[in-house]
Formats: sequence, C-alpha cells, structure tokens
Amino acid sequence: MKLAARVGEVTPSLTLAIAAKAKAMKAEGVDVCSFSAGEPDFDTPAHIKAAAKQALDEGKTKYGAVAGEPKLREAISHKLKTDNNLNYEAENIIVTNGGKHSLFNLMLALLNPGDEVIIPAPYWLSYPEMVKLAAGIPIIVDTADTGCKLTPEQLNAAITAKTKLLILNSPSNPTGVVYTPAEISAIAKVVVERDILVVSDEIYEKIVYDGAEHISIGSLGEDIFARTIISSGFAKAYSMTGWRIGYLAGAKELIKAVSTIQGHSTSNVCTFAQYGAIAALQGSQDCVEQMRQAFAERRKVMLQKLNEIPELSCAKPDGAFYLFVNIGKTGLTSLEFCDAFLEKQQVAAIPGIAFGTDDCIRLSYATDMASIEKGMDRLDKFVSSLQA
Ligand SMILES: *Cc1c(COP(=O)(O)O)cnc(C)c1O
Repeated sequence: MKLAARVGEVTPSLTLAIAAKAKAMKAEGVDVCSFSAGEPDFDTPAHIKAAAKQALDEGKTKYGAVAGEPKLREAISHKLKTDNNLNYEAENIIVTNGGKHSLFNLMLALLNPGDEVIIPAPYWLSYPEMVKLAAGIPIIVDTADTGCKLTPEQLNAAITAKTKLLILNSPSNPTGVVYTPAEISAIAKVVVERDILVVSDEIYEKIVYDGAEHISIGSLGEDIFARTIISSGFAKAYSMTGWRIGYLAGAKELIKAVSTIQGHSTSNVCTFAQYGAIAALQGSQDCVEQMRQAFAERRKVMLQKLNEIPELSCAKPDGAFYLFVNIGKTGLTSLEFCDAFLEKQQVAAIPGIAFGTDDCIRLSYATDMASIEKGMDRLDKFVSSLQA
C-alpha cells in the first residue's frame, strides 16, 4: 500500500514503544522496574470519579458542544484567571482530547507549509512530529550548554522571517527544569520585539519543588498576552491521563478556528468525562498537593541514589517527575544504554535521543518507592558492569 508522504516524515513514539516492551516482559513474569512512565502512578481522586459516574447516571451520554461543556469552559476560565493571572473568557477556551490534542489542533490551525516553529531541545518528543504533520518546519535549538533552558540570545538568533511560533514547556518534560520569572520575562521580551507567537505548555505547572515558582508567560503584560497561547490539561496534576481531557486558551479567532477543525475531526471530548474535570477544578485541591508531596519524596531518594553513581550526573530538577541523566561517560548511545539496561537489569528507561539529546536518558519517578530503590540499585550495578 502506498501511504501518504507525511507518514514517512514522523517517527513512532519511542516512549510508548519502550513502555510496551517493559509491560510485555512483566506479563511474562519478569521482575521489571519501570522508570519509563510518562504518567502519575496514582489512581484518579475519588471525588473526580464520582462526578463522572454521576454524570453518566444523569444521562450525560450524548454529543455535546464541540468546544466543550459550557460549565467546564467557565471553570477553566476561572482557573486561568485566579491561578495564572490570565484574563481568558470561556470563548477563549476549547476543551480537547488531552494536552497533546490541543497542541496538534493548534499546529493545524496556525501553520502554513514552510512556517517555522522554534523548539528548544531537549523537547517533549511529540512537538517536532506535530509540527511536521501540519507541514511546518521544526527548528531545534540545543540548550544543553545553557542548563537546558532557552536563552533570549538563542531565541533571537533562531528567529527568521518564516518563524511563526515558539514552543515553551516549563516545567519541562524531559528535564524537569522550571524557568524563573526573570527568564520567562526575558523570553517574553524577545517574543514581543520580534512579533512571533508562543505556545506555553503548562501541563506540569502544579508539580514543582523546593519553592520553585511557575509563572505563565502570558501574564506578564498585554503585548505578550496577545501573542500567547496556553496548552494544558488534567492528566498530570489530577492523575487523569486516560480520561483524555486538555484545553487550549488563546485569541477568540484562533479558538474558533480550532473548534472548526475539531468539529470535523473528533467533535466533543467524552461528555461525562468532562464532568470529572469540572469536579477536579471545583473540588478541594488537596489531592494535587498530596501527589506533589509523594513525588517530592521520591525525587529526593532517586537523586540521592543517582549522585552515588560517579559515572552519571544530573541537574536537580525543579518540576515534573523526571530525572534527565547524563550518561556521556559510559560511551554508550542512549538507545544502546536503555536496551542493555532493560535486557541485563530489567529496568525500563527512555533514551534521550527521543527528546533530541543522545547523551542522556530519562528516568521517571512516577512509581512506588520500593521500585525506585530496587531500580536505582540495579542502575548502579549496570553502570559498574560497563567498567569491568
Ligand atoms: C503529558 C504531556 C502532555 C499532555 O498529555 P495529555 O495526556 O495529552 O493531556 C503535554 N505536554 C507534555 C510535555 C507532557 O508531558
């Protein structure tokens, strides 16, 4: 069969592939530790599930408005105003099938063939692929030498007449870095001066540590607000990955265009699931804090164990639930490292090449403490065996 050319231009998700291999080994009875998860290991909080069950019982089982249940758009509007100081009305918001879908929709609504999108590396692996699927050109800017943060100088140098959009992700997957307010402000200045757009992927905003502050770039003034699009969702903060609910916020004409695209592709997000999302925003936020504290404990233990392995190094992450570990001293590529680590020690990790950085691997600590301790001991053993 002759497939469309666009299929040949994208690579399948490496993270999903490795997670699947680890799962298959587990199913065969192998004692696998998985550091590959891109999702919280907790169950969705009970009050959120109860709200969705109630919606189901009340017959919220029909097609709904393409852009989302009005009550949910209102609740998101309220959240963006109070949490993030972003003045978006309900009409500025569209509910999507996850944060991934909101970004994909955005690329379709925004990009013409040949438009350039600036993506700082290491990046979330879907960004370049989405840009390519929408006929845009990903412009990768390596930030390995600047603490995995895009500097205003790097941004300035990467902008051309074809630049349409910058993708900013803080807290970051895979590195866990969180831009400081001063750094965000410096990026905003360039975005305004050079008159490009920025999409801020804020899916990890609630998962920050040691007093790190999440600041939304669009909150810094009218000029940057007008050039900002927010992508976020419920997956990470509320442990709702399988629910598939995210949202995009931006100028009304953009949201209208995204709504048209969604109306001809997926239509509304699962109606009763949206009532769970409403409960997530309107209920107590204690569940978010409890999960954050559990992640903080695990981060501490994983970092401590990592720092005891002299061949490996890692900057202390301020957010999300990943360590992005430098394996350069082992002399292996990230794929070789992860293949052998899974084969010899039955621990699943994600090769950094998936995020555009081949001398690193990503370890997720969204797993129980016992697995973290066991898996990190195995990592120590694995790295020692490489020297022998
Ligand atoms: C998990 C994730 C998303 C969105 O996930 P959904 O499940 O589609 O809501 C978006 N961006 C980053 C960086 C992520 O890690």
